[in-house]
Order: sequence, then C-alpha cells, then structure tokens
Amino acid sequence: MDARLEAIKDTVLARNPGEAEFHQAVVEVFESLGPVHDRHPEFLEAAILERLCEPERQIIFRVPWTDDAGRVQINRGFRVEFNSALGPYKGGLRFHPSVYLGIVKFLGFEQIFKNALTGMPIGGGKGGSDFDPRGRSDAEVMRFCQSFMTELYRHIGEYTDVPAGDIGVGGREIGYLFGQYKRITNRYESGVLTGKGISWGGSLVRPEATGFGTVIFTQEMLKTRGASFDGQRVVVSGSGNVAINAIAKAQSLGAVVVACSDSSGYVVDESGIDVALLREVKEVQRGRLKDYAERRGGVTYVDGGSVWDVDATVALPCATQNELDGAAAARLVGSGLLAIGEGANMPSTRDAVAVFQEAGVLFGPGKAANAGGVATSALEMQQNASRDSWSFEHTEERLTEIMVGIHDRCAATAEEYGEPGNYVLGANIGGFVKVADAMLAQGLI
Ligand code: GLU
Repeated sequence: MDARLEAIKDTVLARNPGEAEFHQAVVEVFESLGPVHDRHPEFLEAAILERLCEPERQIIFRVPWTDDAGRVQINRGFRVEFNSALGPYKGGLRFHPSVYLGIVKFLGFEQIFKNALTGMPIGGGKGGSDFDPRGRSDAEVMRFCQSFMTELYRHIGEYTDVPAGDIGVGGREIGYLFGQYKRITNRYESGVLTGKGISWGGSLVRPEATGFGTVIFTQEMLKTRGASFDGQRVVVSGSGNVAINAIAKAQSLGAVVVACSDSSGYVVDESGIDVALLREVKEVQRGRLKDYAERRGGVTYVDGGSVWDVDATVALPCATQNELDGAAAARLVGSGLLAIGEGANMPSTRDAVAVFQEAGVLFGPGKAANAGGVATSALEMQQNASRDSWSFEHTEERLTEIMVGIHDRCAATAEEYGEPGNYVLGANIGGFVKVADAMLAQGLI
C-alpha cells in the first residue's frame, strides 16, 4: 500500500478497535487508491480519506419487545449514516445475530462506493439489529419491527435516510416498518423505505434486482472473454432472495446451476436447481434446503461442508461476508473457474481475492456486481417521487442499463489506471473519485 495511505489507514484502524470487518473493507479500498492520490493531491490536502472513514452519524439504540410467551426481550438497533455527499443515506437493514457495529460499518462503508457506482443520487448508510428472525412468529417479527421503528423514525426520511432490506429483512419486515413509520408520523411518505409491496409504493423488479443484477454484471465480464452464461456450470452460495434470483437469471441465460446452500448444508442438483420449488420451500414455507432436497428427490444433500467443494465454471457467492476463503478459491480455480460475481457483500476473503486475481479469473467485487439491488431501490424512490409505477419490462431495462454501465465504468477505470480487467481497482477508484469530487465541492463538512 502507498505509504501516505498506509499512515491514514493505521489511524483509522486504531480509531475503530475490534471492528474486523470494517477494517477489512477499509484496507481493501485503500489498496486501490494510491494512483488516484498521485493524480489528485487535493484529496489528501482536504483529508478526504479520513473524513470518508468516519461516519457522519452513528445511532445505537435499545429495542425492547415482547415475545409470544409474554417475556420481555431486548435487542440492539443500529443505523450508521456514513456519507451524504451524493444524496440521502441509502442502504439496507440487516437482522441477524452476528450484527454489531463493525458489521454495520463495513456494510455502510461499502455502500458509499456501491451507490456512487450506480450513478444514482444516493449516499451511503446501513443499519440493522442483532435480532434473529429465524423461528419467530409473524406477530413477534411485527412487534420487533414496530419497536425498532419507534426509535428509527426520527432519524430517517425521504430526503434524509432511506433504509431497505438486507439479510433477515424482506418484504414482510419492510411492511411492518413502513406501517409503524406512517402511524407515528402521520405521513404517507412512500420514499422513506424501499422494498415496499407492489400495491403500496414498491417497484416491480426490486425483489429480483440484486440477483438479476449480479448475473447481468457477470455476463458482461464473460463477454470480454468471448463467453456467456450459456452452457456454464454455476455454483451459487446461499438460498435467500439474492441467491434465488441469481439462480433464476443464470438459468434463463442458459446456465445450469448445480448447487446452492443454506447455513445448514448444501444441495447438488446436477439437472439444475428447480427455482419454483426452491421459492416455494424458502419463501413461502420459510423452510430449509434439506426440505427442498427431500421434495425434489434424486439430488444430493450434504449436511454442513462447503458448497465451494462443488466444481464450477462460474461461482456466485450470494450468502454473506467472508464465506469463501483462500483454500476454497484455490480449489475453484483448480477445477476450471472462469468467473466469479459477488452477489453478497464482501463474501470473498482478502486471500481469496488474491488467488482469483493471480489466476486471471474474472472477479466482480460485490460493490459493483451486487449494486442492482440498491440501484433498483433508487428507481423505486424515483417512482415514489413522481407518484408513478413502471412496468416490469421498463424497470428491468433500466436495471440492465445500469448494470452494463457499472461494468463498463469499472472496466474503463481499470484500463485508465493501467490494470485492464481489474474490476476491484475499477470499482474502488470509480466509486471513490465520484464521492471525493462531491465532498471537495461541498467544502469542509
Ligand atoms: N442491502 C442491499 C445492498 O447491500 C440493498 C440496499 C438498498 O436497497 O438500499 O446493497
């Protein structure tokens, strides 16, 4: 790493002890930014990096609620309003027991660059809670969401901060959150949350957008080598919203998705995952992949283990951070991997990224490859602002344009900085310069 940036990095890491994921995200971005600072000394003079690493505002709050047995439960809520240079803070809420400040900050930090890359007017933020929705009844989830919003409402707004979903937060949770916001504020402020239901201000394609976008981005990378998804053998990790829609899109382009996973194990389905059955098991019944395997028949279910043990020509990690390590990356490369598109945020460890890059595998980092979700959230905000709703076809066309645009900007930036094909560099520099320019223009705030 560039010595000037190294010193800033050390200060940032020391100021944020015990936040391993945030450190990882910061280091990964800083490693790309040396050449930018050679060209733009004004960024150093204005301390853009130090300012970028310090969230504009961080909110941590108590979330009390009662479970179905009448017992009082306490969780911790977070919203990190990271950067508003390009627009209102924008980013999802994650409900998962692993959530703590370091996770929310890593996600919020990534979101700044991701959102900049979309070309839409949105800043970066993220939030969530250590609440575990798994095994909770709808009534418990509703009471939790109502309590969460009873604090959060005062910090958000369509011109201030616009949350959406992430792991553990889907249409059901956004519904309960929106209902409580409306009740407390007495405002039907559609643009305050995205991922809403289609009959009350949501956008078509938003549920599909992250998974679809990841595949569109990966398809663009494949095109640079004269390839496409047609005939590829694809492995996807996860079986949530992002994974399911990535599987659907990859198969619609002629790929065979042979495996996917959940936190208990993975399934190998050589004839291609049955997306309709997977949706039924995971989204309607909120069941496990094991149930999919039993109902589908003729497939292999592996309890525990790693889905990255399955050979693939294209890998789409769509589960969670650091789910794919150096050893898994080396194994995939050895089995003939051509491309990897990150549907999750930071699913590859730093070792894994190094292995992919050294082997010359096409590597699409999450902040570029999975930006379709937040981009379509911005399209939802656009529809809300104009009290309009667009057709599926039109919205999907916009999503495709945006993803192709992100791909092309990353590729062009990598080329401009002398590292053609390095999408990590392209995404980090492309996102950073846009935000840094806006911060300079807006003065020391
Ligand atoms: N949680 C998603 C992400 O990681 C989407 C955020 C949004 O739509 O605001 O980008």
